[in-house]
Amino acid sequence: MSNDTNPMEIVSKQIDAANEILQLPADEVACLKHPERTLEVNFPVIMDSGHMEVFTGYRCQHSTARGPAKGGLRFSPFVTPDEVKALASWMTFKCAVANIPFGGGKGGVIIDTKKVSEHELERITRRFTAEISCIIGPDRDIPAPDMYTNAKIMAWIMDTYSMGKGYAVPGVVTGKPIELGGSLGRTSATGRGVTITLQELLKLYKMDFSKTRVAVQGFGNVGLWTAKLIHSLGGKVVGISGFKSCAYNPDGLDIPKLEAWVAETNFIKGFPQAEVLSLEEVLSLDCDVLIPAATEAVITADNADKVKAKFIVEGANGPVTPAAETILTKKGVIIIPDILANAGGVIVSYFEWVQNNMPYYWEEDEVLNKLTRAMIKAFHDVDDIRSQYPGITYRQAAYVLALRRENTARRLRGCYP
Ligand code: NAD
Repeated sequence: MSNDTNPMEIVSKQIDAANEILQLPADEVACLKHPERTLEVNFPVIMDSGHMEVFTGYRCQHSTARGPAKGGLRFSPFVTPDEVKALASWMTFKCAVANIPFGGGKGGVIIDTKKVSEHELERITRRFTAEISCIIGPDRDIPAPDMYTNAKIMAWIMDTYSMGKGYAVPGVVTGKPIELGGSLGRTSATGRGVTITLQELLKLYKMDFSKTRVAVQGFGNVGLWTAKLIHSLGGKVVGISGFKSCAYNPDGLDIPKLEAWVAETNFIKGFPQAEVLSLEEVLSLDCDVLIPAATEAVITADNADKVKAKFIVEGANGPVTPAAETILTKKGVIIIPDILANAGGVIVSYFEWVQNNMPYYWEEDEVLNKLTRAMIKAFHDVDDIRSQYPGITYRQAAYVLALRRENTARRLRGCYP
């Protein structure tokens, strides 16, 4: 993996870029660059065939300075220790930007979920949970869904952890089914946060929401919810990609119809009201705003020149590499970073955890109002820093805010012993 796409190298460069402004001492910067703890587990699972297979998983806690570690759990064949550590670091900074009392964590299991049965997936999830139970918990580290994990998997984690305790512990994970203490509004929260960010951005740049042409990469939780919400608010999604191809219509796609089509056929291909392009073409569509909402390092030095959008709002974590960002910034492209734009998910996860701890549950409008307020506040907190230091990017501004809050907490706690 090149330095441009190695996620821990990317984190390191992002911290350094913010520290050009903050000027924190080198020893404090070194602490910020190192996760507190990473647990690697190798565990056997009996497959449907009766044979045992060994799986590898990780849970990383980058920081618990401001509260318990918080972050998703990813099931993917491409999980690496560096990826998990970088994602955990981004969670620390995201929680600090959103000003919620969590540090950052992340986990992953190396697995292709398409190649295992439902029963195998459940046994893998339960054994992995048992392996990491020594470091997770509602006061220690709270996993949530990420790529290829969902509410059902969170329910298995909650049940496995609770069996070990002897009583129900709903607060050990967020993104649970509503019936187990999940929060109303959690499923759509990340996409909603991306949409609120887009609305604030367009207001700031005096652009008309209904006329702004948006392209979205990713047809999963974040991509599809973002596209659905933009469409429902009267916005124009001109392109969206799935896992094989991209649907394009310069007049705007009918997202609910496309969703129904994909639900029925499994593919974007063949959707009558759109031109079908290749997967990569979504990144170079003629549009005003590009929302990469699939995975990391999709916009690199190799394809940054092809981006036509004037704004990029990062729905995914780490979709733009630093080398790509340099090229794009020179071209005048404004990038709203992941640690701000996709914070909606962790904000509602925080609300879910608060409700679990009370335990008293809010109506959906209360959740959505609180989410909207938190996202708007975070956007303007970052924008205020950008105004204080003319010429800096939104990413630098978001990291200045995050590192300032995180490092202040660390200084106040001091260095044990
Ligand atoms: P998901 O599994 O629901 O969807 C992922 C989508 O990306 C799918 O449409 C898949 O086909 C596509 N995809 C995957 N790899 C790709 C590639 N190399 N090129 C093009 N398309 C690809 O996942 P999600 O929950 O929507 O998460 C997407 C991103 O958003 C991830 O980076 C995740 O870490 C981040 N994120 C998710 C949440 C959340 O609440 N789910 C919150 C914050 C950030």
